[in-house]
Amino acid sequence: MSRYSAEFNFELRTCRWAEREWPPDSDDDRSTLVARQLGTKHRRWDTLVLECDPVGLRERANFGPKRLDGDLLHVVKNAPTEWAYYRDAVPHPGYPWRYVREAIHRADDRGIVDARRAGNRIQIRRKWSYPDWVDRIVAIENKPDLDASAARSLEAQLEYDVAMALSDETWVATEQTGAPVEPVLLEGLPTEVGVIVLDTETLSADVEWYPRSLAVSDPGTRILERPSGGDHDGSAARFDSISADEKAEIRLEIAERAYERGWRSFVDTMRPDCRFFGLRSHAGNQLVPYCDAIDECQTATACSGSCPEFEPEPPAWRMRGWPIDGGPGARCRRLLADRRERRRPGL
Ligand code: SF4
Repeated sequence: MSRYSAEFNFELRTCRWAEREWPPDSDDDRSTLVARQLGTKHRRWDTLVLECDPVGLRERANFGPKRLDGDLLHVVKNAPTEWAYYRDAVPHPGYPWRYVREAIHRADDRGIVDARRAGNRIQIRRKWSYPDWVDRIVAIENKPDLDASAARSLEAQLEYDVAMALSDETWVATEQTGAPVEPVLLEGLPTEVGVIVLDTETLSADVEWYPRSLAVSDPGTRILERPSGGDHDGSAARFDSISADEKAEIRLEIAERAYERGWRSFVDTMRPDCRFFGLRSHAGNQLVPYCDAIDECQTATACSGSCPEFEPEPPAWRMRGWPIDGGPGARCRRLLADRRERRRPGL
């Protein structure tokens, strides 16, 4: 298995470009958060850009760096300003109350809701109101080499995105080729999807096609199955409908996961404690992982305990400052964590 992936490298470059330049072709200085490899159980996006309300984003920090899942959101959003029995304050969630009680205990442990026992009743009170911090969610698919066959497999995913409309916009990002007409424009992608061509060396991008805003406040259509095509395939596609309220909940849960993870969390699943692990600086003040054993940017999948080249950092590297500062591996982690933190004001 190759430990180098042009797609992974490209994805990290897209994330950094979006962090610096979003929205493209505009002088708007929007507050953004970028994350990667997030979505739902049916669809995972390569890069997500959250356009945030700056005040709301700062207020979101009251709830800590970890995400709030659906159960926690139900509690913090409905917790009253004065002490009240939880069943009077929180609307019936549509699932058993015991899950609400569990969520209340978790929220109390995390210090994001006040809870107390009055007789045999649990009462709750809000500490902060949960802010409306996400303005828009933008999904980007990264395809550095978008040839005809890559475009064909991408087409079905993009049609799914357009029909579901979970993101406000969907884009495809591809590597700039320098051709008079970028090849991506010759492929049959849905017209609702925007196209960006990225120069990964200079970290600049051109918009080749603007997307259409998707109807995120309307019910969505989930494409479950589509006919494979061909002359003898007369089968019908299967669809499922999803309500606007359900979509709003899914969008907020995705945003919460993006808030927790950002895009620099790739290091969490890699081996920075390997002697060959390093970070290289790229244009745009970006740090990407680099493996000295293969002399390339390695993938997160390859950089694991099963890597045949893995060798632990020699203890001597950790001598200065050890165990307070750790060795170079711990320093890499800290560096990326610091940069992630800067994107979440108020933490
Ligand atoms: S585990 Fe070490 S040798 Fe293997 S890819 Fe990661 S840095 Fe390179």
